[in-house]
Amino acid sequence: MRDQSDNNAPLHVLQTVFGYPSFRGQQADIVNHVAGGGDALVLMPTGGGKSLCYQIPSLVRDGVGVVISPLIALMQDQVDALAEVGVRAAFLNSTQSFEETIRTEKAVRKGELDLVYVAPERLMTPRCLELLESSKIALFAIDEAHCVSQWGHDFRPEYIKLSILHERFPQVPRIALTATADPQTRAEIARRLQLEDAAQFVSSFDRPNIRYQIVEKTNGRKQVLDFIREEHPGDAGIVYCLSRKKVEETADFLNEHGLTALPYHAGMDHATRAANQSRFLREDGIVMVATIAFGMGIDKPDVRFVCHLDLPKSIEGYYQETGRAGRDGAPADAWMAYGLQDVVQQRRMIDESEADENFKRVQTAKLDAMLGLCETLNCRRVRLLDYFGQSSGPCGNCDICLAPPVSYDGTVQMQKLLSSIYRVDQRFGGGHVIDVLRGTDSDKVKQWRHDKVSTFGIGSETSEAEWRAILRQAIALGLVVVDHDSYGALKLTADARPVLKGERTVQLRQYQKPAKKKRESAKP
Ligand code: ADP
Ligand code: ZN
Repeated sequence: MRDQSDNNAPLHVLQTVFGYPSFRGQQADIVNHVAGGGDALVLMPTGGGKSLCYQIPSLVRDGVGVVISPLIALMQDQVDALAEVGVRAAFLNSTQSFEETIRTEKAVRKGELDLVYVAPERLMTPRCLELLESSKIALFAIDEAHCVSQWGHDFRPEYIKLSILHERFPQVPRIALTATADPQTRAEIARRLQLEDAAQFVSSFDRPNIRYQIVEKTNGRKQVLDFIREEHPGDAGIVYCLSRKKVEETADFLNEHGLTALPYHAGMDHATRAANQSRFLREDGIVMVATIAFGMGIDKPDVRFVCHLDLPKSIEGYYQETGRAGRDGAPADAWMAYGLQDVVQQRRMIDESEADENFKRVQTAKLDAMLGLCETLNCRRVRLLDYFGQSSGPCGNCDICLAPPVSYDGTVQMQKLLSSIYRVDQRFGGGHVIDVLRGTDSDKVKQWRHDKVSTFGIGSETSEAEWRAILRQAIALGLVVVDHDSYGALKLTADARPVLKGERTVQLRQYQKPAKKKRESAKP
């Protein structure tokens, strides 16, 4: 494979080794650039075909391609898949025996391998760096490069040290790849990995076969059960939950109701986790109920739905998790149930974290963008792609495009809510404020004599659920914050003032009672 003829051309390698007729999207440009010795930063959605972008240059160039990946559990599979097509690959990580390590190291040194996968912590050892310095290296591929970002949810401290590659191997081309990077993370990757001068290849992030849908949460697990039963009976899918406990409970609930659901979270023992993952990959129609510990690097093409029972922390997280649906290109659903409690909970997690102020500020901005996506009156896809710096028109394949929500001038309603919060001295939570608005004679209302405040009962014509929806939008719009230092009391922000004074109007989403989906069943 190393002769000078056209047999060494990337396209020829694609066809003869991997058996694909042509490159996809930007693959050809990327492969040619890296095969020619250039550095690259590649942003491509999951399933886009990132692996070939470094595998083919590794075959085309002299020496071994070194792939740095945090996904130790998947290295064996990747090496096996390459062996099947005749590519000489091996890995170096903590799961193998000393003998295997020695054997692989020898093969690297003697130039007998096309590709070697290395865990980042292993790469940084003096022994490994010495090995690489005494071997011929074709390129370094840094997979899942967003792990270098401290703001991201996959941060790996070892990734920061990867800048050493540029210092110690200045002649070796480097290609960093990721499926998630808003412009800010992209800049951070380039800076930390010293890839500022690298060519950037940004693919379209659109996943047109995925239908995005975000519904109001009433009874989350019942809603997800109905969704799966009605839309995806017998299909494979993933249900994401925030906590381990909720993963267990939701999996039990779905099993009790006739689905085959398996739990997956970092608190389970390794063997059970691996067994569940392997069943999900190999059997049909398994519903994986998981925390976000599950999914990175999972290549299952026919995942038909991804559900979120809790609000993700950021749009990147949401995009990455939903991106695991429909990798085969067939229609798939990204479904989420979201409610006021999610907003309160996520805000509290940020407030209560030990992180410094700057970190909290970034996390808050990311959460706000996520809330904006939930509360948007426009196409979800437009909003999503815009976040990744890509503009597009309404998609026709999201809940908003399919059933546009009606918006109305909600200024008066908002003023009622804001002044009620003010009248109770900004010392009470949502439940109590809504009781005051609706004129409910609760014990707490009597105790605090809030039936005497001027806003008592001014919102009695509006249902409790509808007030909750308005409050959620007030929080999403940044008019109200939940103060966790005083037991979840609602507080007005500076932005609330112009609304109260009638200087600013507010468009709200028409509240729709969560109706059971109408869907004609073929069955009698
Ligand atoms: P990513 O790492 O970007 O998520 P992969 O590299 O795992 O994606 O590729 C996703 C799938 O697409 C794989 O099954 C791969 O074999 C296939 N694929 C990649 N490039 C091509 C191509 N040029 N032609 C056909 N199939 C491709
Ligand atoms: Zn749309």
